[in-house]
Amino acid sequence: MTTPHYSLYIDGKWVDTGDVYEIRSPATEELVATVARGGVAEADRAVAAALAAHRDGQWRRTSPQQRAALLHDVAGRLAARTDELAALQSRENGATIRITGALHIGLSAAQLQYLAALAEDYPWETEGPQIGPVPAAAGLVRREPLGVVAAIVPWNIPLLTIVWKIAPALAAGNTVVLKPDEHAPLLALELAREFEAAGLPPGVLNVVTGDGDPVGAHLSGHPDVRKVAFTGSTVVGKAILRQSADTVRRVTLELGGKGANILLDDADLDIAVDGALFACMANNGQACEAGTRLLVPAQRHDEVVRRLVERGSTLVLGDPLSPGTHVGPIISAEQRDRILDYFRIAAEEGAFAALGGRAPEGDGFDRGFWIEPTVFTGVTNDMRIAREEVFGPVLTVLRYDTVDEAVAIANDTPYGLSAGVWGGEEQALEVARRLEAGMVWVNDWHVIHPAYPFGGYKESGLGREGGPHALDEYTEQKFVSLDRSGGIANRAFAIVIDPAG
Ligand code: NAD
Repeated sequence: MTTPHYSLYIDGKWVDTGDVYEIRSPATEELVATVARGGVAEADRAVAAALAAHRDGQWRRTSPQQRAALLHDVAGRLAARTDELAALQSRENGATIRITGALHIGLSAAQLQYLAALAEDYPWETEGPQIGPVPAAAGLVRREPLGVVAAIVPWNIPLLTIVWKIAPALAAGNTVVLKPDEHAPLLALELAREFEAAGLPPGVLNVVTGDGDPVGAHLSGHPDVRKVAFTGSTVVGKAILRQSADTVRRVTLELGGKGANILLDDADLDIAVDGALFACMANNGQACEAGTRLLVPAQRHDEVVRRLVERGSTLVLGDPLSPGTHVGPIISAEQRDRILDYFRIAAEEGAFAALGGRAPEGDGFDRGFWIEPTVFTGVTNDMRIAREEVFGPVLTVLRYDTVDEAVAIANDTPYGLSAGVWGGEEQALEVARRLEAGMVWVNDWHVIHPAYPFGGYKESGLGREGGPHALDEYTEQKFVSLDRSGGIANRAFAIVIDPAG
């Protein structure tokens, strides 16, 4: 079978750059595809195409219903290719086939459909209350597209993080330059194919692959880009925010997390222990919203750890394409080594790996990049393993004595993306209300739904994706005042000029 090759998509054309790089499976290091590598020149061409498409107005002047129909069409096209795209995603970034179909592809299609429906009913132009004495003036509030949006996304859940941005951007009539992560650009380019097939005009969506620096950095500082929608690390998110100050560019940021997962005294451990492993290990532990700090009442600590080890030992680490696999590989050798570094630091700081804590060896692990599902005990919230985002299948267990202390530990982090509470609903909900996090799951985790906002408090981000306000993030509000008196009486003009006669 010949290896597929992917070109960039600029101004409705598939373009090569003379520079090609390889996408290799993080599980086997086998060649999955070759991709044209874009640079600053391609980023500039893509922004120019998007700006021209914004200015010619063909897309933004379509009706919301027409734009919604196109999003529905693309959602259907993705859904029809679920198995194929899920396998491609698993081969490209190592996410298990158990998650790529339902989450990566399925939820992305659902998100497109939700945004299409939202666009159909959105208050694009509404008339407000009468202004001044009758008959005087009325006001319109219009929602208008921003212009060129740069969407920059990571490799861990590429399609969903893309759709969170480009679905509202396109539904609102914006034009887009999408920069996928260099490790996982294939689904972005497959999506562009579907938009092209669905009849999106040239220049409205452009995809430029390439490295964060220069391509992402160039796009996020480009004077013609009116908004940057970014998902990725907090350090890059902060750089984008600083870069955006000069042009007061709109920004949404979905950044890192260090989710606190609080087991209350009355938590049902048969559910909560599996739930804690799900919270941390899903998507190979490479999820921003993962629950990576498990807070356990001191008197239940040993029992919880025993159960975590027992249940955690049943997790199958291996081939992401096998339906029997629970946890797949780490995205790259660099990221695996970073995790191994954290293991060394954790040991130095006095934590103890009750489960895992190594790179596995032997059959099936001689190629690719692997980390065993890991549970650290003896962790306190000042340790680096509890404060920094490890981005791997690594759970830390912390003890607490009182619920107040649990809440204080949970909130003692620069992050604020996700949190969870397990126990009777009344008390769990009370705790949920006290947590500084954009998403709190009671007796569950990873509940992500198009109709609910996704995003973080504090250094986990700015703005929200999804939810009923998704289109607000991609539109400007314009107040249009309309005089309807037709005369000169009762005007404010008299403040500066006396009425004639
Ligand atoms: P990263 O910040 O290194 O890269 C993300 C994207 O930004 C990539 O496309 C990359 O090429 C680009 N980039 C890199 N440097 C850039 C620069 N200087 N200017 C502009 N763009 C640049 O992130 P990563 O380590 O690859 O991804 C994992 C991170 O993403 C984790 O911190 C994770 O928590 C976060 N994440 C957050 C969410 C969320 O919704 N909050 C979702 C998924 C991942």
